[in-house]
Amino acid sequence: MIRMSAGTAACLGLKTIKMDVHPTTAYLLLGDSCTMKCSFCPQGKESSGAAGRLGRVTWPSFSLPELEQGLEKAEESGIKRICLQGVRNELSTAAFPALVKKLKEISSLPVCTSAWIKDENEAAHLFESGADRVSIALDAASEEAYKQFKGGSLAQRKELLISCARRWPGRISTHLICGLGETEQELLALTAELLMEQVAVALFAFTPLKGTALAGQPPPEAGKYRRIQAASYLLRKKHLSFSQLVFGENGSLESLGVTPEMLLNLLKGKEAFCTSGCPDCNRPYYNERPGGFIYNFPRLLTEPEEREALGLITASLQEVKRNAGSMAANL
Ligand code: SF4
Repeated sequence: MIRMSAGTAACLGLKTIKMDVHPTTAYLLLGDSCTMKCSFCPQGKESSGAAGRLGRVTWPSFSLPELEQGLEKAEESGIKRICLQGVRNELSTAAFPALVKKLKEISSLPVCTSAWIKDENEAAHLFESGADRVSIALDAASEEAYKQFKGGSLAQRKELLISCARRWPGRISTHLICGLGETEQELLALTAELLMEQVAVALFAFTPLKGTALAGQPPPEAGKYRRIQAASYLLRKKHLSFSQLVFGENGSLESLGVTPEMLLNLLKGKEAFCTSGCPDCNRPYYNERPGGFIYNFPRLLTEPEEREALGLITASLQEVKRNAGSMAANL
């Protein structure tokens, strides 16, 4: 059996649900009972969330023949990529490369993988099995947050990520989560470093989920997320370098180093606030409730949405500056 996001299942004709945005990648998930203890993930060893959840999304199970039948319709449904994710356990890790191979046999779509790998050899095995890209999720952007919420060492994981990025240039991705207690400076410094190594960085907002240890923690504040998203986008498009960003003493982003007019011009185009990561990955409603604040837009923004996002950035940069000023005045 293989799980797929409910939106993917609907797109492939395997489930009927109402959707206002279709996924442009088919999101598949192999395995239950992860041995990792990520405190933000319902699949984590210490979480009590339902097995069929990842992010905010439900992941019903299907047989391989059902998947095969569904994938026949993938391209006509607007699916441009397959993302195979795997929980970390012996069974899933052993079956993962064979499933990549099977997917390549039954579909001509590019396949990316997002599963725990222990070394470069395992990445090589995935590429040999037909993966087009391999993602090694860091998730946490500071050593402290990594240790606290995932367990282990960020430096070691980053070393593997970078060595893979150098061996397979332009074919490695990662995930970073905003809102795990890292500073904005830490998150953007890591983003800039990884972009320099040609890693595709998928930015997510921390989402408190039922059954996880972090269920009671707040998601990132809207203005903060838009600031990080704007800076990440401009770094990715090479419109800015990390050295241009100005941070306050507490690591908050105070300025992107350009005039407000230039900033708004650089961000226009309705793309800056969309889901980032591998090409054609839009992950609808992974972080957000339909009707609520949209952290990562799964489609291009409308004019009013873009105006609102840009307004939020301007207001939040002013607020950060004001707060920094009042902190200095109180010293
Ligand atoms: S960026 Fe998207 S397509 Fe790429 S590994 Fe992450 S979820 Fe999958």
